[in-house]
Amino acid sequence: MPAAFPLEPRDVPAVETRYRRIATQIPVPESLETLETLRKNEPRSMGGQPPVVWDRAEGVQVHDRWGNTWLDFSSGVLVTNAGHCHPKIQQAVRAQTDHGLLHHYCFPAQPRADYVEDLVAAAPEGLDKAFLLTTGSEATECAIKLMRTHGKGVGGERKIGIVGFNNGFHGRTMGSQMAGGVGPQKEWIVNIDPAMAQVPFPDGFRQADTSFDVFLDTLAKQGMEPADVAGVIVETYQGGSAAFAPNEYMQKLRAWCDEHDVMLCFDEVQAGFGRTGTMWGFEHYGVTPDLFCMGKGMSSGLPISGVLGRAALMDQFPPGSMTSTHSGNPVCVAAAHANLRVIQEEGLVAHSRAMGEVLEPELERMQARFGGPIGAADAKGLVGSLQFVTPGTTEPNKGLATEVVRRCIEKGLMMFAPVGVGGGTIKVNPPLSIPEDALREGLGVVEESIEQALAADRETVSG
Ligand code: PMP
Repeated sequence: MPAAFPLEPRDVPAVETRYRRIATQIPVPESLETLETLRKNEPRSMGGQPPVVWDRAEGVQVHDRWGNTWLDFSSGVLVTNAGHCHPKIQQAVRAQTDHGLLHHYCFPAQPRADYVEDLVAAAPEGLDKAFLLTTGSEATECAIKLMRTHGKGVGGERKIGIVGFNNGFHGRTMGSQMAGGVGPQKEWIVNIDPAMAQVPFPDGFRQADTSFDVFLDTLAKQGMEPADVAGVIVETYQGGSAAFAPNEYMQKLRAWCDEHDVMLCFDEVQAGFGRTGTMWGFEHYGVTPDLFCMGKGMSSGLPISGVLGRAALMDQFPPGSMTSTHSGNPVCVAAAHANLRVIQEEGLVAHSRAMGEVLEPELERMQARFGGPIGAADAKGLVGSLQFVTPGTTEPNKGLATEVVRRCIEKGLMMFAPVGVGGGTIKVNPPLSIPEDALREGLGVVEESIEQALAADRETVSG
């Protein structure tokens, strides 16, 4: 089974529902020129997504120029938490551009002052300072630097170790990529940082033993003592799936960090802003980090990220030495502030939690129905995942996952390309504003696509 999305237009059945409309071949023949222009001028790495040329999007729908509409299960890449082009966010962006300030570097400005005040107020008590950046990777890089500086301060030159988790993802810049320790990426990184280590993530699937002892044992085997560790960085749930750790594990991790003066950083770039049914994903664990990273769902569209943490940590650097050209760009801040208000005023966190009560049992039912090819089904709030595997193993089946996504696209359901270990995982993460009937409709499309992909697979094998 090919693990890529073909560019040859195919006849597909017409679709016309309240949320979806497919009226052409897919890919649309007229869209090929755009696709080819992109392939010619951009690196190959950019060519991995299904061949749909996005034109407009609003709420839970994405449209192309040729009359097709997709129900969005991608939120771009877990960005549009408040929905695409929410009118209040659009209006805030428009107002800021019309007002006439597009850039101010780190000079003081009122919109940034108002936003960081509300952002800090939305965070747990004790996490009192916010530093605004542009991308998630920058936020995690910054968190690594903050933890290391703190470690050196309390434990000297040796206390610079950063512990991440296997198959983690914190971004694609050098430090963030190394912290994630994603298998094949290691081959693409030169200068592996010897003070960065990974431990297994207790997902209960690839790592069956979910006890905290594994954390301790793995570090000991790697020769890392607590006195060598400055910080632990962990995705609240692993973004390559939607797997959470057991609460007990995280509580023990918090206690271990406290005992050894190790900073605990949750990477909430995916999990923040209501995605998992709580404002911050780490609330599920009943622990508070020393600092955390945010991005993606922070503005529902414009590039902005941040690190939020204890004042003593965030204030380690003197004026001018922890800054960024676009820190708190006024247009991005306008979007982020409107987004925060929309999430709070429209009750999107509670809605996400309520929709999780639909999503989780549905994905589990699909796993029970299809059996072996689905190795794991995880969900919380409005993030869910299905991991396709060779039955009876944890070996990812990228071909099958890709085939399922391709079929969803042909039926008017927007999904991004499979992610996670070996590219075997499909993710369900619609905007948090998704109505229940739309969520159920989309899940029906996922189920039908799996059924058809498995049937086609069996035909190929027997034929
Ligand atoms: N951390 C996590 C948990 C992420 O999911 C991502 C993006 N997928 C990043 C960091 C990196 O964010 P960005 O792509 O904005 O650099």
